[in-house]
Amino acid sequence: MPIYDYHCQACGHPFEMLVRAGSTPACPSCGSTALQKCISSIAPAGKIEAIRMAHRRVAAAQGHFDHYSPSDKAKLLQGKKNI
Ligand SMILES: [Zn+2]
Repeated sequence: MPIYDYHCQACGHPFEMLVRAGSTPACPSCGSTALQKCISSIAPAGKIEAIRMAHRRVAAAQGHFDHYSPSDKAKLLQGKKNI
């Protein structure tokens, strides 16, 4: 269930509300349903993707073994020790 930021158009009260599908949110201050849904402060999807790409570049540069299976990883580490 998503939490939305609302701004009451009747009394100007700002609030966050958990909205169930099919239900109409009402202002906790005055009970009005004349509400303006605000954009939440969660990072936009484009920004999240940029962060993810940056993490992947760092992981690739550091040579992470995340794409190997645990047994392959063990073999690789064993091989390094023997050199
Ligand atoms: Zn209100």
